[in-house]
Parts: sequence; structure tokens; C-alpha cells
Amino acid sequence: MNLEVARHALKHYYGYDTFRSMQEDVIASVFAKQDTLVLMPTGGGKSICYQIPAVVLQGFAVVVSPLIALMQDQVDALKANGIGAGFMNSTQSREELLEIDAQLRAGQIKLLYISPEKLASQGFTNYLKRFPISLFAIDEAHCISTWGHDFRPEYTELKLKNQFPDVPIIALTATADKTTRSDIIQQLHLNNPKIFIDSFDRPNLSLNVLSAQNRLQIIQSFLEQRPDTSGIIYCLSRKETENVAHKLQKLGFNADYYHAKLSAPDRAATQRQFLKDNIQIMCATIAFGMGIDKSNIRWVIHYNLPKNIEAYYQEIGRAGRDGLQSDTLLFYSYRDLITLRKFAEESGQVQLQMAKLERMKQYAESVICRRKTLLNYFSENQVEDCGNCDVCRNPPSFFNGTILAQKALSAVVRTEEKIGMGMLIDILRGSRRKEILANQFDQIKTYGVGADMSVLEWQECISQLLSLGILEIAYNENNALKITPKSKAILFQNEQVRLVSLSRSRERLQTSSERPKSKRQILDNELFKLLFTLRKRLSERYNLPPDQIFQDSVLQGIVKAKPITIRAFKNLQGIGERKFRLYGRTFFEAVRKFITEKAKEGFKIKGSSYLITFELYQKGYDIKQMAKIRKLATNSIESHLAYLYQHDYEIDIYRYIQEHELHSILDFLRQSKSNKMTEIHEYFGGRMSYLKIKLALAHYESQKKDAQKYSF
Ligand code: ADP
Ligand code: ZN
Repeated sequence: MNLEVARHALKHYYGYDTFRSMQEDVIASVFAKQDTLVLMPTGGGKSICYQIPAVVLQGFAVVVSPLIALMQDQVDALKANGIGAGFMNSTQSREELLEIDAQLRAGQIKLLYISPEKLASQGFTNYLKRFPISLFAIDEAHCISTWGHDFRPEYTELKLKNQFPDVPIIALTATADKTTRSDIIQQLHLNNPKIFIDSFDRPNLSLNVLSAQNRLQIIQSFLEQRPDTSGIIYCLSRKETENVAHKLQKLGFNADYYHAKLSAPDRAATQRQFLKDNIQIMCATIAFGMGIDKSNIRWVIHYNLPKNIEAYYQEIGRAGRDGLQSDTLLFYSYRDLITLRKFAEESGQVQLQMAKLERMKQYAESVICRRKTLLNYFSENQVEDCGNCDVCRNPPSFFNGTILAQKALSAVVRTEEKIGMGMLIDILRGSRRKEILANQFDQIKTYGVGADMSVLEWQECISQLLSLGILEIAYNENNALKITPKSKAILFQNEQVRLVSLSRSRERLQTSSERPKSKRQILDNELFKLLFTLRKRLSERYNLPPDQIFQDSVLQGIVKAKPITIRAFKNLQGIGERKFRLYGRTFFEAVRKFITEKAKEGFKIKGSSYLITFELYQKGYDIKQMAKIRKLATNSIESHLAYLYQHDYEIDIYRYIQEHELHSILDFLRQSKSNKMTEIHEYFGGRMSYLKIKLALAHYESQKKDAQKYSF
């Protein structure tokens, strides 16, 4: 099997012109019947790596997947592209299984998804042996590793190599570490596997960390900038998911919540609504996400600090699976840090969890490119600043914070290191709350010396002192602040402190879509919204998740290209044959009407003049009338009609040319190979008008194109 066939299948079924570089190598490896291990981040395009071989090779591929809840969606997505697929798992009825069996026998299935327990069940491998199996794909292969975070014991029961020594295995995962990798190879008995490791960078995700102060307000303005986009807000507790959802609902947003205490049917229903774009904002605990295969999650917000970088990376990784620009926000507070430390202490793996939390904290406090910090954590050395994180976009400036530090430290000393951060700030700002007066904190020398700074600024300042080791928190003493040897040097030896500019965090949130919009962008947004609504309508009519009609990337591709011919539309990325047949006309018509209207309003859109003429033609005007209305020469209108006809618009050319005339000109074109209008005109001794010649030429060209069309 060769790659050329694979490329044609990619265009035919998925509508993509090219493979991503690693996909091509992986596919070549599978074609060579090599066992193959693929480590690629979420959104890297793992599915294509086994689906294309499955489609073009003899027989069918068996895909082992632990996510039973996702099987239906995965199979539906394949079918939507015109690929025969089915699944078998232990939740199905006998009838359903018989139906799949019949399809397998009839050779109608190219990909069979099965759960690991089904595969391990009595007699199942013998059943499979009756069929020509092209390959085994082990999806989420990290589940086989006891080391990983979602170990599935059933995975270790897979004895594929013994049973099917000649069938290549391709294992795929988004988990990168070495232990998991060697576990997968061992457990699956992969035979001298080819290993492909992609970078784990997700350049389309913007990374932003903000102070948790006023987070709801920040979220509100963030969401107002992004109407109709889906996203997840991760919260630490169930109660918080409900709170945040209710608050957002009150503000008029389409939000709901999800956590493990909801009943299973409620959870399934909520998830379904999110997939269908009926719920826009999901406030959820980390229970949400594992079973979510939604390509157009445009943003992920961490309302609270995650407990480690692995979890954080996995959670933000749910955004932008379609490769489009997506935003992530992390809200950071010392309060969360305190809660998480408590969890870590209760975890049974205190040291490990504490160490991981410490790295999470360092990430949140980082003053160098966040992506560098993140990738370094995963042992990928990135040298260049990414340009798509808050630090890169708004590099920190430093100021001399010695006096501020001295004020804070002195208040800590004078209250005998017994107070927490909130009280310290109140003292510095001169609050008159009861506790302060009762403890006579208003008498100490530093009372009110920091009144010129906001609570937020003081919080940031103290957070920085903590991360610099100038202050410490005694977690076992009600989180009281303590001074350190470093603080003494600052207080008594006038050692200098460099702090990051405090106003920074409020300026920081400048994600890509928050710059002022040009007229063009407003036009594009309007078209996107139109297509989005159309997709939603179709998705309701056919009861399909919207991204099984067209992914967001396709809608954006349409907006960017504004195709004025159906051919140009069809050539866009991500529109395979089947979807083109089902939805192509409908979407193209919507685009055509939109462009026509906007062009009439004065927007300059390439090729729109043809479309205005077409609209007049449809209304029944003749060429002279059209020329008059459009203030163009009849000559131009004639060219428009020829262009439209050549590009598959419904123009009845026989109004302007008789059939025998058309054939005479076509004969001439075929024989003489000249397509010069004047030569043709001369040849026919002036009997054929230029309009007729133009139309015949258009006919000739469009026939030529049809003949060149590749049919798979
Ligand atoms: P993964 O399983 O690794 O998370 P997917 O297989 O879901 O990734 O692919 C992620 C996105 O990239 C999907 O939207 C998919 O359609 C798109 N994609 C995959 N391969 C290509 C390609 N060769 N060209 C264009 N888009 C692609
Ligand atoms: Zn960066």
C-alpha cells in the first residue's frame, strides 16, 4: 500500500489536502506492518494515524478504546465522513451485536471499536480470527500502565501478539513519560516497535495566569467578548461549580454545572447538551472531561489552582482540539494553595503531592514565558519565548519594592507573627474592623502606612514576598505569616528587594480576540455567526452534534476564503465528499447570499460582482437591463454570465445560444486549440456573437475541469 492512495483517501473522506508530517511517517510504518507507538498531544491528529490505514487496507481495523461513552460519537463521526464503522461493548443488546456481526460479514465495516473487556471476554479473539483484520489500534494506550493516572486492569489482559502474530499493532497516547512508554511496549508485547514522539506543545492555546481577586468580574468580561463560544470553568469543589454557574446564569450567560454527585443520567444529559452547543459554559469539577470529545472548546478557565501540572495540562488541553486559537486562564490565590496543601497532606503520598503542588505554584508565579516553564516540566526544552502567554505578551517590569517589603515585614514582626495575609493587609491599609481595634493593632507603628495601595496590590506584593522566601506561611498555625532569615536582612541591613510591577495583572488579560476589531473582522464575525446558526439548525434537524456536521475550523475556513464558486467551496480543508454532498449546497448558498448582500452594501469582497449579476439574472432581468442597473457595459455582464456558467451556477445558456451553435464552436475549439475570441469570431465570419463565443468557451473549460476531476 502506498502513501499516494492514503493521500487520496484523506482528501476524499476528510477533505484535507495534506498529512501532518508525523502522520505520514506513522502511516508508512503501519503499511510496512510494523508495530508502532505514537505519542502525540491532544489535537495532534492521532485518529488519522490509524483511521486512514484502516480505510485503505484490506479487511477492517480493530480499535480498542476504554471510553465506552465515546464509542457512539466516534463511530458517528466516521460514518459522517462516509466511512463504515461500528462498535461492540458489554452494554449492547444481542440484537445490536448481531447487526454489527452482519455488517462485518458483509465487509461494510472498516473500523470496529471495542472495549478492552469485550476483547478479553471468553471466545472473542476466536470470533475475531474469522475476519481479515488489518491492524489493531490501541487508543489511550497509557491506560495499560499501572504508573499512569487512569490505569485499566482489563488492558493488561489483551493478549493480541500471541493470538494475532501477523497483525500490526499501533498504540496511541497523549501521555509522554518514559515509564508509561516502556509499560505500553512491554504489556502489549510490541515487536521492535517504531516510536514516534511529537512535541507536546500546543501552540494554539494561549496561557494566562491571573490573580484570583475579582475573578468573576474578569470572567464576565472575558465571556462577553466571546459570545457563542464553548468553554469549561474548572472549580475545586462541587459547591463552587454550582455557585459559579448560578452567578453566571444571573448575569445572563448560558451556564450549567457538572460534578460527580449528580446522578448518572443527569451527568450524561448535561454532557450531551454541552456537546450539542446547547450549554455554552460548563462549570465543572475535574470529573468532567475524560469522556468529552468536543473539538471546538474555545477556552478553559481554572477558577482554582489545579493540584499539579499534569492535571492542569490535561485540562487546558481540552481546549482547541481542532487546532484553532483558544484561550486558557488560570486564577491563582494563596487561599487555594492552602486548601490544596491540606489535600496533599491527607493524600497518603504527602511528599510527592507537595512537590508537585510546589511546581504548580512556581508555574503560576513564573515571570518567564509560561510555555517554557510548562514544556521544561515535561522535559522538552524550549528555547524561544512563545509569544502566546501573558508573560510574553506583557513582560514584567521590576521596581524597587524594599520599602513595601519593610512595611509588611515590620507589621508581621509587631503582631508577633500571629496574623494571616488578610489581617496583614487590613492593618497596612488602616482598616477599622472590630478585630483590629480589639487587638489594638491600630496602635502599631505600621498601621495604615499602606493605605495608598489596593487590597489587590497588597495581595500581589505579599504573594511575591512569599515566593521570594521573604515571608513564609505556617500552615499548621492557622496560616500565620512568619519572617525568615531573608526578611531580617531586609528589615535590619537594608537589603534591596526587586518586585514585579503590581499593576501588571490587570493589564495582562489581552488574549488574542480582545484587540479592537476592524470592519473586516466585524464582517467575518457576522458571517461566522450566520454559519454557526445554520450548523446549529442542521444539527437539531438531524440530531447530530454540530461538529459532526462541520468542525469550527471548516466554518473559519469558509469565512476566511469567502468562496464564490461551489468548486472553491469544495476545495476548502475539512470538507470530504460525503459532507459536501449532504451540506455543501446549503452552506454555499448561505455564503453566496451573504456576500451578495454585503457587496450591495458596499463591502469589497473578491468576486462579489459576479454574484450581484447572478441575483439580477435570477430575478429575470435581461442583459441590457442588468447592465443598466449595474451601470456596467453589456459586455461585462456577458462575461459575468459566462463566468457564472463556467463555475456551476444555474445559467440557462440556451437562452443566448442554440445547441447547434454551441456544438459548432466546441468542435472548433477541440480541433484548432485556439481559444482567442477574435480568432473564433473571424472563423465564423462574424456569425457568432461574442456572447455566444464566451458561453461556449465557458462550457469548454468547465468540461475540461470535470474530466480532470479525480474520482476515488
Ligand atoms: P487527537 O486524537 O490526537 O487528539 P484528532 O485526531 O482528534 O487528535 O485531530 C485533531 C484535529 O486535527 C481534528 O480536528 C482533525 O480533524 C484535525 N486534523 C487531523 N489531521 C489533520 C490533517 N492532516 N490536516 C488537517 N487537519 C487535521
Ligand atoms: Zn510565552
